[in-house]
Amino acid sequence: MADMRPDKTKMPSQEPSVRARNFSEVALGYTAEMAVGEANRCLNCKNPACVAGCPVGVNIPGFIKKIAEGDFDGAYAVISETSSLPAICGRVCPQESQCETKCVRGIKTEPVGIGRLERFAADYHSAKKKEGAAVPASKPEKNGKKVAVVGSGPAGLACAGDLARLGYGVTVFEALHTPGGVLVYGIPEFRLPKAIVAEEIEGLCDLGVKFECNTVVGRTVSVDELFEEGFEAVFIGTGAGLPRFMNIPGENLNGVFSANEFLTRINLMKAYREGADTPVMRPKRVAVVGGGNVAMDAARCALRLGADEVSIVYRRSEAELPAPCGGGRACEGGGDRLPPSH
Ligand SMILES: Cc1cc2nc3c(=O)[nH]c(=O)nc-3n(C[C@H](O)[C@H](O)[C@H](O)COP(=O)(O)OP(=O)(O)OC[C@H]3O[C@@H](n4cnc5c(N)ncnc54)[C@H](O)[C@@H]3O)c2cc1C
Ligand code: SF4
Repeated sequence: MADMRPDKTKMPSQEPSVRARNFSEVALGYTAEMAVGEANRCLNCKNPACVAGCPVGVNIPGFIKKIAEGDFDGAYAVISETSSLPAICGRVCPQESQCETKCVRGIKTEPVGIGRLERFAADYHSAKKKEGAAVPASKPEKNGKKVAVVGSGPAGLACAGDLARLGYGVTVFEALHTPGGVLVYGIPEFRLPKAIVAEEIEGLCDLGVKFECNTVVGRTVSVDELFEEGFEAVFIGTGAGLPRFMNIPGENLNGVFSANEFLTRINLMKAYREGADTPVMRPKRVAVVGGGNVAMDAARCALRLGADEVSIVYRRSEAELPAPCGGGRACEGGGDRLPPSH
């Protein structure tokens, strides 16, 4: 019999006044007891609508049932059948507009906290792996074919994981010095710690995926040369990393940054740390133009760099903000409702 509590089990998180001044992860994850409690809210539907809302078709009731039974290894194994990046997806996937929006529990009350449970299963596995107690991933049987993946953002990583599981020899070519794409240069540390991204990438290496960083395909090596080297297919997952400017007067003034540059300096280059090689301005009053998730990440980083006042300047009404500050991705991926000052 499912637990019919109306609300999701709350995930512990840093207090707003504390987290607004540090770069540590905001959401702290479920304990085992909380996870089992939340898993018991799932109705284990025969035709689970939640699965239709998951872009990679994770067997959601299957892994939640395992958590409810206390079989956390089993839960991780079920997720891993279809997802290569559970710890990342459990943190930054927009569950509130995907799987959770379809969950039948959400019709009358709050949906099951699918993302929080996914994160719990992934973190449990990670902790066991660090202790040397996790069952190592079995190496897939090689099929003798080589595939090149260009770009190591979530698209490239997911492609690499899926192909490696099918037995392909996969090499990921990345232009930057660190793999991860937006996961490392865009999404801030306090929403997605870089150590988590590194662990997921290590998991792909365990499957046999190779990474070649500092390689700009098209400059360092051409696609034709990749084919000549014996790659039979090339997956291009180079993202859409160029900023779009508004073409208005003043855009080139000192102190005006694209979100890409601002976030890359902070996240990839760790400019927020004392003594970091890459400098970043630490102004006291900041205006962020835009109202999406990227704008929220930039605003929250500015606060954490020491700004006294950060204003979101948005062309439509507050109700129309794509990333309203009242739950959702802008609010820590944990969906907690927070005051605008967080
Ligand atoms: C600040 C920010 C926050 C976001 N937050 C979220 C979120 O919370 N949840 C969510 O679901 N989505 C979020 N998104 C959107 C999400 O990050 C993107 O949809 C996703 O990263 C796209 O993945 P990708 O692999 O296609 O591209 P990218 O992540 O952009 O990766 C592309 C990679 O290709 C590399 N590359 C480019 N050209 C070459 C070349 N010629 N040779 C070799 N490598 C190359 C780049 O260096 C990069 O590493 C956010 C985006 C931003 C910018
Ligand atoms: S729709 Fe909701 S209640 Fe039904 S199986 Fe999925 S998570 Fe569980």
